[in-house]
Amino acid sequence: MYNVMSIRFLALAGMFVFLQAHAADPLIKLPSPADMEAATKGKIAPAASAAAAVTPASAASTVAASASASASASAAAAGSADAVASTPAAASATASASAPHAAAKVVDAIKETAKQTQTTSKKPAVSDAEDEKNMQNLAAKIAERVTAVRQKQAVRAAQETRSANGGNARNGRNNHATVRKARVAQTDASKEAARVATHAAHWDYEGEAGPAQWGKLNPDWAQCATGARQSPIDIRDGMRLDLEPIRFDYRPGPFSVVNNGHTVQVGVAGGNRITITGRTYELVQFHFHRPSEERINGKSFAMVVHLVHKDAEGRLAVVALLIEEGEANAAVQSVWNNLPLEKNEPVRPTIEFDPSQLLPARRDYYTYMGSLTTPPCSEGVLWLVMKEPIRLSAQQIAIFSRLYPMNARPIQADSGRLIKESN
Ligand SMILES: [Zn+2]
Repeated sequence: MYNVMSIRFLALAGMFVFLQAHAADPLIKLPSPADMEAATKGKIAPAASAAAAVTPASAASTVAASASASASASAAAAGSADAVASTPAAASATASASAPHAAAKVVDAIKETAKQTQTTSKKPAVSDAEDEKNMQNLAAKIAERVTAVRQKQAVRAAQETRSANGGNARNGRNNHATVRKARVAQTDASKEAARVATHAAHWDYEGEAGPAQWGKLNPDWAQCATGARQSPIDIRDGMRLDLEPIRFDYRPGPFSVVNNGHTVQVGVAGGNRITITGRTYELVQFHFHRPSEERINGKSFAMVVHLVHKDAEGRLAVVALLIEEGEANAAVQSVWNNLPLEKNEPVRPTIEFDPSQLLPARRDYYTYMGSLTTPPCSEGVLWLVMKEPIRLSAQQIAIFSRLYPMNARPIQADSGRLIKESN
C-alpha cells in the first residue's frame, strides 16, 4: 500500500538526515530548487527518491520518526532567528570528499528500513493529516537548515578566498576552483530556502502566525506557549551583586549578512568568544530587533542587537546590546552597507567585521535564564543584557525599519525568576 504523502515525507526526511550529517561541509551538494519543488509537491524527490519508490507508507513513517528525533535534538539550532547553526565553527570542513559516499549510505539505510518494514506491516501508521503536518514541519526545518548551512558556507568561502588571495593556500582545497564550487552551492541553496519557505510552516510577528499562535503552529514549538522561563522579559528588581565581568575575546574576521525573513542576521567566522563563570561560548551570529524585545523597568529601546553564542556542549548565551537613537554607529553601518537585496541570499563582503566595535564602553550587565525569543522558543538560554545602550543614528534605525518595522516578541511572564545585575 503506497501513501503519497508518506513518500513525500520520506523524501524530505532523507534530505533532512543528509543535511544533518553534512552541515559542516562547505561543498555540500544541497538539494536543488527542482528537488525541493518536487518534494514539497509530492513528485519524485532527491536523495530518498529511490527509497521512496520501494517504500510502503509504514516504512515512511518509521524513517520519518527517526528523522524527527534527530530534528528535535537540533530544534534550537534549526528553527529560529535566534538560533545558531548547529555545527560549531570549529567542526570545520573535512567532509567534502566523503559527502557523496555518505549520501549513498543514507539512501541505503532508508532502503533497508523500507525492505524490512514492507514484509511486516501494511497499514499506514499515521493519518494523512498528521503526515501532511509532519511533512510541513520537516520542510520548515530543512528550509531553516539550508539557510544556516549556506551562511556558514558563505563565511568559509570568504575565508578561503582571503587565504587564496593571500597566497598562503595550505593545500589543494584552498584554490579558486574550490571557492567557485562553494559559491555555486550557495546560490542553489538560497533559492531552495526561499522556495521551500513558501511551502513550509511559517511564523510571524503579527496576524494568524503571530506570537500568540507560535506554540500551536508546530509541535516542536510548544514551549513558545507552555514554557515557564521564556524571553523576553521586563527586567526589574534585579539582585545587585558584584558580578564577574564578561570576558569578551572578539576579533576582526570575515562575515556574511542575510535577510532571513525575520531579521537581518550577521554570520561570523570562528574565534570570537566570551567567557563567563568559567564557561566559554563562541559567537555564531548576531541579529537585530526593532523595537528592543527586552525592557528595563518597563522602558523599551529603539532596537536591540542579540549576539548569539554557543559553548562546546551546545548551551546558548545571548548578549543583548540595547540601542538608543544618537550618533551614527560605524560598525552597524558596515552591516547596513552590505544588506542583501534578496531574502535568504547572504552577502559576503570582502571587508572584515570586528564584533568588539559593537560593544558599549561600560560592561555592567543584567543576567537571567530565559529562552530563544523566536520559535522553537527553547529554554536554558543564559541572557546577558548590557546596561549601557549603544547608539544608532535616526537614519540607521530608519534603514532597519524599512525592512522590519516590528520584529519583537511581546514581553513574557518572569514567573519569579531570579535576575541579577552588576552593582
Ligand atoms: Zn533575537
